[in-house]
Amino acid sequence: MDRYDVIIIGTGAGGGTLARHLAPSGKRILLLERGDWLPRELDNWLTESVFVDNRYVSPDTWYDRDGRAFQPGVHYYVGGATKLYGAALYRLRKEDFGELRHRDGISPAWPIQYDELEPYYTLAEQRYQVHGARGEDPTEPPASAPYPHPPVSHEPRIQQLADDLAAAGHQPFHAPCGIMLDESSPAFSTCIRCANCDGFPCLVHAKSDAEVLGVRPALEQPNVTLLTGAKATRLETNEAGTSVTDVVVDLNGSEERFTADVVVVSCGAANSAKLLLQSANDRHPDGLANGSDQVGRNYMFHDSTAVLALSREENETAYQKTLGLNDFYFGADDVEYPLGNVQMVGKSQAAMFRGERPRETRLAPEWTLERMAKHAIDFWLSTEDLPRPDNRVTVDRDGNITLTYTETNAEAKRQLYGKVKSLLGKLDMNPDHLIHRFAYMKNDIPIAGCAHQAGTCRFGTDPATSALDVSCKAHELDNLYVVDTSFFPSIGAVNPALTAMANALRVGDHLLERL
Ligand SMILES: Cc1cc2nc3c(=O)[nH]c(=O)nc-3n(C[C@H](O)[C@H](O)[C@H](O)COP(=O)(O)OP(=O)(O)OC[C@H]3O[C@@H](n4cnc5c(N)ncnc54)[C@H](O)[C@@H]3O)c2cc1C
Ligand code: SF4
Repeated sequence: MDRYDVIIIGTGAGGGTLARHLAPSGKRILLLERGDWLPRELDNWLTESVFVDNRYVSPDTWYDRDGRAFQPGVHYYVGGATKLYGAALYRLRKEDFGELRHRDGISPAWPIQYDELEPYYTLAEQRYQVHGARGEDPTEPPASAPYPHPPVSHEPRIQQLADDLAAAGHQPFHAPCGIMLDESSPAFSTCIRCANCDGFPCLVHAKSDAEVLGVRPALEQPNVTLLTGAKATRLETNEAGTSVTDVVVDLNGSEERFTADVVVVSCGAANSAKLLLQSANDRHPDGLANGSDQVGRNYMFHDSTAVLALSREENETAYQKTLGLNDFYFGADDVEYPLGNVQMVGKSQAAMFRGERPRETRLAPEWTLERMAKHAIDFWLSTEDLPRPDNRVTVDRDGNITLTYTETNAEAKRQLYGKVKSLLGKLDMNPDHLIHRFAYMKNDIPIAGCAHQAGTCRFGTDPATSALDVSCKAHELDNLYVVDTSFFPSIGAVNPALTAMANALRVGDHLLERL
């Protein structure tokens, strides 16, 4: 059996970032990835292939609490979900690390404070080449360094939106973007600034994803090995149950075993919980790291709404994700609890609407889908989803995932929508229509949109109420770590990837010391 110093299971925002950080140490590192390399092909940028045929959504079946099967929006590739992500690379707010009172209850405090993660946020922004501007967003947490790259400029319609928001008394800011765009030297820029970014793979490898900026640089070191088609199915422990001894892997259909001094699980929040739960043994009858009964619980994925507003003029923007607005993050003049973050989402294209007629809107007949796409300005509204023990991932004997979920903060989500809608008249947009994009886009069941999944192995200081300790090591095992979005005790209302990356670097430093 092959023995390594470290095995990392999963190569997404958590695992890929950690691999690159550990690679220069010279330690023998094995990366196990159930997926393959995402093929570079013209389909990467074909809207129909990506949004209608779901070419890059991995075939998996999960079940909801009523036993209904659904296909989750998961992406099993080298680089994980970051291959398809929108690369909006936000830090959590400083206040998100403390206790925050919400409409539906308390968002709990983290066992570490913002200041402890800050140096790693800075490093993560450098590793992932984030473009942004400090000082524009009033909710921005303190930072020890400027963004490594200047903000991505707004295209004219979004610049007008920024100006109109400012004139209405708001504080829009340049959103932090992970794209390798060099506007000062377009001929040498890796990124060509296109419309097919958010939700698409990048054909020219210009998106700051965990394959391009995590796994590939790690593999430049001779001590790092990657196996694709390598699905971890079970972790086995020594007899005392104190250490993981074997990682059992389905390697392209045949069972293999690997062993390492340190085993890191980074399969994404649902699949990391699944792997721990299905590794139950006599010493850990409810699953590894699960003496607290927290593994799989507290599943969060943001109360998000994708909406489009109709601009009076056509919106010719290609890359739309350049603007953010956090004026409602902690509430509003008339609302005393947090509402959330407003940002742009990739520009609507008629092909995304699957040729459906509008179902839930009362648009006049002249609003064909093509015309609607031309005038669309697309927003992504995110309200914090609170951790609830009953919102959870469970696994049956055959390894099937059930996702039991009840929405939290629905009223806050509605209020955030109302706030944005009330602004439209001042933004040169049709004041009557802020249209839910799921009315047009395929989204059969809301919990299938699990892009921002988190929370299933929360970290904490108390082994009775958390699965992981402050270093993201399982309380009950001396060599098992979980380094992906599973460790989040709360999710805030900004996108999670940069926090997963920063935490992977923090745990990486701990592992470098330990090794
Ligand atoms: C369309 C889309 C848009 C998004 N946009 C943004 C955005 O703009 N900003 C942002 O911050 N976040 C965004 N996200 C979310 C972001 O991508 C995730 O939060 C982040 O990738 C999570 O990192 P992770 O390490 O937890 O999991 P992942 O990145 O999903 O990585 C998990 C990896 O583990 C592998 N794996 C799973 N099970 C096993 C197993 N048993 N054995 C071996 N390997 C396994 C998977 O194949 C995968 O490679 C988006 C996500 C999607 C899908
Ligand atoms: S905008 Fe840039 S990073 Fe995004 S898909 Fe296009 S070329 Fe790639």
